[in-house]
Amino acid sequence: MGGVIGVDRGVHVLAALSDSRLIANVAVGEERKAKTARLQRELEALTERDGARRVINGREHRRIKARGRLARAKERQANARRDYAHKVARRLVDGADVIALEKLSLRAMTRSARGTVDCPGRKVRAKAGLNRVVLDSGFGLLRQMIVAKAEEAARTVVEVDSHFSSQECSRCEHVARESRRRRRLCCVQCGYRNHADVNAALVIRGRAQLALKSELYPAEEAGRRGQAAA
Ligand SMILES: [Zn+2]
Repeated sequence: MGGVIGVDRGVHVLAALSDSRLIANVAVGEERKAKTARLQRELEALTERDGARRVINGREHRRIKARGRLARAKERQANARRDYAHKVARRLVDGADVIALEKLSLRAMTRSARGTVDCPGRKVRAKAGLNRVVLDSGFGLLRQMIVAKAEEAARTVVEVDSHFSSQECSRCEHVARESRRRRRLCCVQCGYRNHADVNAALVIRGRAQLALKSELYPAEEAGRRGQAAA
């Protein structure tokens, strides 16, 4: 029985788990990024444009070669990230019956589109752009794979509201901005201390357990509500 594991999008790590594990970002990143950037510069140097910034030598042999080199480097970079996310998601799903994740925040997406409310067309594009950013980021990729593998393995994914999860104490549920001290959570109410991202993962886990409980015993909950109303 693997129980319920809470997963938080870490601030300094790829993810933090409620069992105190911290998952580092993929390590090969920097070297590959530097190479991709160099190939990008090489392609730019071989590119000739007209006044409207349109490429005019797109069919030139040297440029086609350079474009191919850049495309392959980008592909290898993406593959490394995917492989890593696959491995992490596999470990996670194998070790738990229920995986608790923060709900993808629609609020954050709407906020990013602020200022374009009067222009729906642009807002739609802004949202699509943000969706792409969310899904392409390390955590977005990991999240997608956790959901897919959980489905294959008949595990349950519970999505919870992550509101204030970074300021809430996972032991006494007290919420205070003052409890947050850099990478630590030091509860001003009960004195509980933990890595801030691990604490947030524990808060997410607690919220998922609560959601599961009310799902498993809806009649009891309804009964209690009925009594309260009477
Ligand atoms: Zn506390």
